[in-house]
Amino acid sequence: MYYPQSWSRTLLRICIYILTVVVFGLFIDQLLFTLLIAFVVLVGFNYFHLYRLTKWLWQSRAMTPPQASGIWHHIYEGVYYLQRRNRTKRKNLGELIKRFREGSEALPDAIVVIDKQARIMWCNKNARIELGLKWPDDNGRRIDNLIRHPMFIEFLHEGDYQHPIEIPAPTNPNKIFEYRVMEYGEDQLLLIIRDVSRVSQLEEMRKDFVANVSHELKTPLTVINGYLEVLDTTTDDSSPIMKKALSEMGSQTKRMQTLIEDLLILSRIESSSDRIFENVVDMPKMLNQVELEANALNKNKQHKIVFQIDKELMIYGVETELRSACSNLVFNAIHYTPDAGKIKVEWKRVANVAEFSVTDNGDGIEDKHIRRLTERFYRVDKARSRKTGGSGLGLSIVKHVLHHHNTSLDVKSGVGNGSVFSFKIPEELITNEVDD
Ligand code: ADP
Repeated sequence: MYYPQSWSRTLLRICIYILTVVVFGLFIDQLLFTLLIAFVVLVGFNYFHLYRLTKWLWQSRAMTPPQASGIWHHIYEGVYYLQRRNRTKRKNLGELIKRFREGSEALPDAIVVIDKQARIMWCNKNARIELGLKWPDDNGRRIDNLIRHPMFIEFLHEGDYQHPIEIPAPTNPNKIFEYRVMEYGEDQLLLIIRDVSRVSQLEEMRKDFVANVSHELKTPLTVINGYLEVLDTTTDDSSPIMKKALSEMGSQTKRMQTLIEDLLILSRIESSSDRIFENVVDMPKMLNQVELEANALNKNKQHKIVFQIDKELMIYGVETELRSACSNLVFNAIHYTPDAGKIKVEWKRVANVAEFSVTDNGDGIEDKHIRRLTERFYRVDKARSRKTGGSGLGLSIVKHVLHHHNTSLDVKSGVGNGSVFSFKIPEELITNEVDD
């Protein structure tokens, strides 16, 4: 450790020097001349050491500083100490970078470090193989000039890196890559690219499987249902067991038909490529039809249903999907509210968004169920849901439709306080246009 020379010691040395010069000057009776000589010697001495210091710093290859005594010894030692400290720091930093790079090279993912201007600072071996980057040729080049997919460029420039994106690989369109960005350091972004082809292939297979199975089951079920209806009308009244069996078989077949219908709707929405900005949906007209259906469904339950619809409020979207979402929410309120309840359906502008809401005064839902309601086949009370003929897919359909329309379902409910199911259509989907 280096300890600087104390001020008092330096001062003492200067005083001794001046005193010696003065005494010598007085002794030879040439005080002024001796002082001048002493001053020149002092300046010369310091310039000599400044020269040695500069030479050591810029020209000499020697690691150790030149030998000197007094204040210059301390200056040399101080500079030497700082140099050693920087060298150790640089070495540690180098080790750290080496370890980071070795770690990144060992990862199965492609890693690219970029700065805030999207310029490549470093990439690992997988990035070179999978993305076709060249190192060090691509050092400093903009990544958006090398990966030109519009979705990637939009993702990178939007700056919202909460969710990853999936797009075809730049070197092989048959592969699907997931791009994830993480901010780190002061001005750096870590781009992690993972091959998710297999996962997305499995997801596609799952969707296709559900869609195909549902489709294949539809025809046999229609046939069974048809025969059951014929048998029901032709079977002898004197056989009560047969009558009961036929009615039970009829209602179970209808349940299965509803389930299959809902599965088909769900897979259609999941794989929907309909663009939401292409068509205007006349929501007031569509909700009028939902009102008619709701009234028909309400015959036995005798709820008081009020529809308050803003007749001017149109939006861009996919009509079949929105109709499915709205009717699911309204029909659920009818099914799950005890007889003679109150249901209010509203479609209105709130600030700069359009809000659809269904409020009922039913039993309400416990908090622990609310966040799981949109899961497939999730039911609060299984037995009761089956009795209502529900497939358990209604709210799942609603969730997917709303996701497709850039919004989400909001559920407010408390046990004994009824429920409010609502969603807000964002401003950019509201329009004054009407389709012919
Ligand atoms: P289901 O076909 O069983 O109705 P949904 O996905 O439509 O399936 O609904 C999921 C569950 O959410 C229902 O089983 C029911 O328990 C609950 N639920 C939905 N709407 C309401 C409501 N308005 N009031 C109380 N519970 C509701």
